[in-house]
Amino acid sequence: MSEQVAAKQNLSCELFQRATRLTPGGVHSPVRAFKGVGGTPIFFKSAQGATMTSVDGKEYIDFCQSFGPLILGHRDPDVSAAVREAVDTAWSFGACEPYSLELAEWITSRLPWVEMLRFVSSGTEAVMSALRVARAATSRNRILKFEGCYHGHSDPLLVKAGSGLAGEAASSSAGVSDQVASDTLVASLDDEDSVRDIFNEHADEIAAVILEPLPANYGLLVQRREFIDEVIRLARANGALVIFDEVISGFRVALGGMAQVLGIRPDLVTYGKVIGGGFPVAAYGGRKDLMELVAPVGPVYQAGTLSANPVGMRAGLATLQKAESVNVYDQLEKRTSQFCDRLNSEFKTNGLPFQITQTASIFWLHSATDQPIRRIEQIPAQNATAFAKVFHAALDGGAYLSPSGYEVNFVSLAHTEEVLERAHTTLINAVEQISR
Ligand SMILES: *Cc1c(COP(=O)(O)O)cnc(C)c1O
Repeated sequence: MSEQVAAKQNLSCELFQRATRLTPGGVHSPVRAFKGVGGTPIFFKSAQGATMTSVDGKEYIDFCQSFGPLILGHRDPDVSAAVREAVDTAWSFGACEPYSLELAEWITSRLPWVEMLRFVSSGTEAVMSALRVARAATSRNRILKFEGCYHGHSDPLLVKAGSGLAGEAASSSAGVSDQVASDTLVASLDDEDSVRDIFNEHADEIAAVILEPLPANYGLLVQRREFIDEVIRLARANGALVIFDEVISGFRVALGGMAQVLGIRPDLVTYGKVIGGGFPVAAYGGRKDLMELVAPVGPVYQAGTLSANPVGMRAGLATLQKAESVNVYDQLEKRTSQFCDRLNSEFKTNGLPFQITQTASIFWLHSATDQPIRRIEQIPAQNATAFAKVFHAALDGGAYLSPSGYEVNFVSLAHTEEVLERAHTTLINAVEQISR
C-alpha cells in the first residue's frame, strides 16, 4: 500500500480501534470485520447509486450493495422520495396502518404461491417463524437442510453435517444446545442419494425441507434442476413441507425469485433483503391453510414490535414497483452477463487463475475450476487466500467487493455500462497484479 493511501485510511483505522473496544470484533455482523480478507475494515460515511464513500473521502464502486437489498443501488431517487414522505408521515405505529396492506397486496397479486404473508424485521426471523409453522402443521419436529445453505442465525439452523448417522447434525456455533441441533438433519447439495438416505431413515419425523433454491451464501452454488426436483419429490412423498428460503434470491433473480424461475410452488417461502429496499424488512408466507396457523388466528405464536414498520413498508413497495416498471431483471441480467462473460474470457485468454460464476445480477469471483461448483467441498482450497489478494488489489483500485471469498456480489440498476466499464478495468488489473 502506498504511503498516501495508508495516510488516507487513518480515520477508518482509528474508528475501528475504537469500535473493537465496544462491540465484538468492532462490528455488528461478522463478515464486516474483514476476517476473511485480512486488514482493517473501511468505514463508510455515505453512498449514492453504485458507489460508497469512505470516512477518509475515497470513493469505491460497490459490489456488496449491503449484501443484496439494494437492487436499485444506493438511495435510488424514487425510493428516496417514498422514504422522505414516510418519514414525514409516521415512523412507527404499533397499530394497524395501510402501508403493509399495500405491500402485501402488491406481492400476493403477483406471486400466486404467496396466498398470505406476515412481515417481520429480518431474514433470520422469517425463517425461524416459517419453521415453527411447519412443525405445527405437521406435528413433526425435525427439519432437513443442506450443507452450504445459510438460513440466518436461529439456533436450529446453526448446524453442520455431523460425522454419524444419516443426516445427523452437530451445532456449528457455541451456545446452540445439542438437543436443538439434533432436530435438524443435514444433507449434501447436488446429491440426491444423501437426501434419499435421510428420508429412508427419518421418513415420518421431518416437518420440512428448507433450501435456498439458488444457494448464494457460500459462494454461488448453482444446483441442477433435476436435483431440486428430486428434493421436492422426496419431501412431498414423505409428507414434509417444502420451504424455499428466498431471502437472497427473492425479488433479485426475478420478481418472483427462484419459485418463478423454476415454476415451483413452495408450501412456505421466506423473503428479506430486496423486499425492504435497504430497510429492515422480511416476510414469510405461502399456503393460506398454513399461514392461518399463525397467531392471532391460529396456535403458532409470532410477533414483533417493529414488524411492518411503515418506513420500511414504503421503501419496499417503492423498490419493488420500480424494479417491475423499469424491468430491472432483464436489464441487470444482460449487463451482468456481459460484464462477467468478458471478465471470464479475459481471465482464460491471459491464463489468470480466476473465474466468475453468475446468475442474473449475482456473481461470485473465485479460483478457477474445471467443473461447476455445486457443493462447498468443491471450492478450491486456495480460494480464500487467492480472493483476499484480489479483494485488496481491487480495493486499492477503487472497487469494493463483498469482503470474503465465500460471499457473492451484486449488480444494481445504478451500475451503468460506464460504471461497469471502469469496474472491468479495476478487476482485470487487480487479478493481473496479484497473479504476476
Ligand atoms: C441473508 C439471508 C438470511 C438471513 O437474513 P438476515 O436478514 O440477515 O437475518 C437467511 N436466508 C438467506 C438465504 C439469506 O441470504
